[in-house]
Amino acid sequence: MPTEALYADVAVPVHVFQTFSYRIPTSLHDLAQPGARIVVPLGRRQVTGYIVAIQTTSSRDASIDDAAVKEATEILDSIPVLTPELLELTRWVSEYYGAPWGEVIKAALPPGISPSIEQFVTLTEVGRAALQHETDPATAEPLMRLISSGEIHSVEALSKSLGRTQALKAVREFERAGMLKRVFRPSTTYVRAKRQRAVRLVSRGEDAEKSAIVRFTPGQQRILDQLKQSPSLALQALLVAADVGASTVNTLERRGLIEFFEQDLRRDPLGGESLPAAENYQLTTDQTAVLTAIEEPLRKQTYAAFLLHGVTGSGKTEVYIRAMRLALELGRSALMLVPEIAMTPVFSRRLRAHFGDRVAIFHSSLSRGERFDEWTRVRNGEARIVIGTRSAVFAPVENLGLVVVDEEHESSYRQQDSPQYNGRDTAIVRAQKAGAVVVLGSATPSLESFHNARTGKYQYLPLPRRIANRPMATARLIDMREVFDEQKKPQIFANELLRAIEETAAKGEQSIVLLNRRGYSSFVLCRSCGETIQCPNCDVTLTYHRSERVIVCHYCNHREAAPSQCPSCDGKYIYYIGEGTEQIEELLQKRFPALRIARIDRDTVSRRKSFEQTLQEFSEGRIDMLVGTQMLAKGHDYPNVTLVGVVSVDTGLALPDFRAAERTFQLITQVAGRAGRGELAGKVLIQTYHPSHYALRHASAQDYQGFYDEEIRHRQNLGYPPFVSLASLLIRGPELSRVRADALTLRKELDQANTERMSRVLGPAPAPLARLKGEHRYQLLIKSRSRKQLRALADQAIRAAVESGVNARSLNLEIDPVSVM
Ligand code: ADP
Ligand code: ZN
Repeated sequence: MPTEALYADVAVPVHVFQTFSYRIPTSLHDLAQPGARIVVPLGRRQVTGYIVAIQTTSSRDASIDDAAVKEATEILDSIPVLTPELLELTRWVSEYYGAPWGEVIKAALPPGISPSIEQFVTLTEVGRAALQHETDPATAEPLMRLISSGEIHSVEALSKSLGRTQALKAVREFERAGMLKRVFRPSTTYVRAKRQRAVRLVSRGEDAEKSAIVRFTPGQQRILDQLKQSPSLALQALLVAADVGASTVNTLERRGLIEFFEQDLRRDPLGGESLPAAENYQLTTDQTAVLTAIEEPLRKQTYAAFLLHGVTGSGKTEVYIRAMRLALELGRSALMLVPEIAMTPVFSRRLRAHFGDRVAIFHSSLSRGERFDEWTRVRNGEARIVIGTRSAVFAPVENLGLVVVDEEHESSYRQQDSPQYNGRDTAIVRAQKAGAVVVLGSATPSLESFHNARTGKYQYLPLPRRIANRPMATARLIDMREVFDEQKKPQIFANELLRAIEETAAKGEQSIVLLNRRGYSSFVLCRSCGETIQCPNCDVTLTYHRSERVIVCHYCNHREAAPSQCPSCDGKYIYYIGEGTEQIEELLQKRFPALRIARIDRDTVSRRKSFEQTLQEFSEGRIDMLVGTQMLAKGHDYPNVTLVGVVSVDTGLALPDFRAAERTFQLITQVAGRAGRGELAGKVLIQTYHPSHYALRHASAQDYQGFYDEEIRHRQNLGYPPFVSLASLLIRGPELSRVRADALTLRKELDQANTERMSRVLGPAPAPLARLKGEHRYQLLIKSRSRKQLRALADQAIRAAVESGVNARSLNLEIDPVSVM
C-alpha cells in the first residue's frame, strides 16, 4: 500500500506574509515534524525554512493546486529546533506585530543555526554512461571531466576552477540533458558544537596493570595514574599533565588500555571568571511580603502578572533570585530578561554564584559559538535558568514557571528592525500561554505598566524603601540660565558641579558624569558661511570624534576625515559646537589632572573587554570618575559613588516624541539611584535650562506618583497610549516624489477603510528623521481605541495600497511603537 502523501506548511525567513506548502518526499517522512528546519526551493533559490505544520491529503487546504506544489529538498533536524510552545509564541508575535512568521522564527533561534544552503552536483546514470562512451576524454567538456573524478562537487568549487558563468551555464546544460543532478546541502560553515579529543581508561586497563604481566614505561604509568584520578581527560590536558608525547598515548591505545572519544566542549561566556559569593540575606519585611505574593501563583502553576515597583537598591534582585530558586525546586524553569548587555556581566555572575551551571546566558555580544552552546544547553534541559536580553524571550526552556523582566520600562526591549517585537510584552504573553508567573520590575515603571497595575491587570507590589533604610540620593537641579547670567557666557559646567567633584575626590569617593551624546562635538559649523556639515545619507549633522580625527554619522556610520576647511566655502574657521562625552572627559581631565578618569559610551563599549575591565577597575577604586552616556545610569552598584552629575538633560526633553518627558524622568531617577548605594549619602546634580519642567521637578523629588498623575493627564488629553493603541506607518525610498505619493495613497486607503471612524489617522508628514541612509521617509500615525480595529484597518489599507501599485517593501508598519520619531 502506498504511504499517504505528506505536506509541510513552511515559514521562510524572508519578507513575505504567508506560509508555503511543500510535498515531503517519502524518504523524509520520518523526519517531518513541526518545528524542524527544512530546505525548500523558493523561486530559483533554495532556502532554509521552518515546518510550522504537517498536512495530509485530507487535512490540507483543498484549494491548493497539487500540480503546483513543489517538493521539499531536505529536512535538517531529527529533533525539531522549535518546541510546540515556541512555534505558538512566534506565531503570536508574527500576527500581533504584523511580521513574517519566518522572520520571527529566525530571530528566535541563535544566529548561525540557520545554515546557508550550498549547491552540489553529482553525475546521474545517464551522465556516467555518456562519459564512458566518450571516445576521446580530452575533448569532453571540462566540467564533465572534473565531475567524473569524484562523487560530489560543490558548485562553488566548480566555479572557482572554471569561472562562474561558464560553470553555471555548463551545469544547467548537463542538467537539462539529464546527465547531472543538483543536490542541496547545508553549508558546512555554520555553527556547531565544538568538540575536543578526549581520553579515558578502558575498564580492562586496571586489571591489566594489576596482573603485572604488562610492564609500563614511566611515561605510560603517568598517563594511567592521571586517568585513574578522573573519568576522562582532554587529550591536550593529559599530554601536559603526564608530561608525555602523543606517541606514548597512542601506544596505550593500541594496547587496548585507553580509548579516544570526542567530547563536546562548552564555550562558556563567563569562562574562568571568579564569581562573587552567593549571599543569603534575611529578607526584609517588604521583600517577604512581595515574595509571598509571587510564590502563591507559582506554586499553583497559574498565570499571574506582577508589577514590582521598587526604588533602586530596594532589593528587587534578591526577590528575583528567591523566586527563581522556588521555580527550580518546583521542577520548573525561569527566564529573566534584562535590557542591556551592560548589565549582564554583573547580574549573570550573581546568578551563577547562586545556581551554578544551571544558568545560561543569552546576549548579543556573545560569539556565535557561545550563543549556540548556551542555546543547546537550554534545549537539552541542562540549563533551567536563562538570563538574557530581548531575544532570550524565545529561549527554548521547557516547563516555564517564572518570567522576570527587569527594568521593564526600557525601550531597548523593543526591536528596531523587523521583526519589530517588544520583548517585554512578548514575555507577558509567553507567561500567559505557559501558565507561568511574570514579574515586571522597575524603579520607574512605564506609564502603561503602572496604568495596568492601577486598573488591576497587574498586581502591584511596592518596595518603597532602600535596604537598611539607606538614604535616597536627593537630586538638585542647577538652573543654567542663572549660571549664564552670572558668567555672561554659556558654561559647560556650573561651578557648583565642579566644586562637588572636587569635594568628592577630596573625600576619596567616586563620581559619575553623564551626558546624552557620545563623540567630541555634535556639530561642525563654518563661521564664515554658517554651514553645518551634514551626513550625505541622513538628515543629521556629523559628529566630530577627535581621537580618530574623523566626523561620523551616528545613524549610518558614514565617516570622513575631519575637514580643516569648510567644504562649502573653503573658510578656515571651522567650529566644533555642542559637547560630547569625549570632550567632557578631556575638559574634566584638564581641570582635575590628578583624577583617574575613564569614559564609557557606545564607542568604548564596542570593545567589550575594555568596557568590562573599566567597570571592574572602577569598582575596585582604581578609577575615580566615569564619564559616559546614559548607559552608565543603569544597573551598576558601586557603593563608593557619592556624586552623579548630569551635564545636560535638555536635549532629551526637546525630542519630538510623546515619551520624551517619561524618558527624561526615568533617566534622572535611574541616575539618582546610582549615587549613595552604600553607607554613604549621595548627591545628584542636574544641569538644565528648564528647571520648572514637570518631569524634572518630580524626578528631582523622587516622586513617581506625582509624575505619573501629571503625565497620564497629558496622555489622556492628547490621545496617546495607554488610552489609545498606536501604530506608525513609515514609507521610505530613494525618490522623494514617489515616497510622498505613496504616503498619500496610503492615507486615502486608510480613510476609506476607516468607515466607522473608530481610528484617527495623522499625516503623512516627513518623519522626524526625514532622510536616513540615503532614503526619504514619510510617516503616518494611526490611533485607535480598539487595537483589533487598528490592525484590521492597517492591514486593509496596506493591501489596497499595494494593489494600486505601492511597493510593499517600502512600507513599514510598527505596532505599539515605543517612540514616534
Ligand atoms: P535593586 O535590584 O532593587 O536595585 P538589589 O537587589 O541589588 O536592589 O539590592 C541592593 C543591595 O542590597 C545589594 O547590594 C543587595 O545585595 C543588598 N540586599 C538585598 N536584599 C538584602 C537583604 N534582605 N538584606 C541585606 N542586604 C540586602
Ligand atoms: Zn548618515
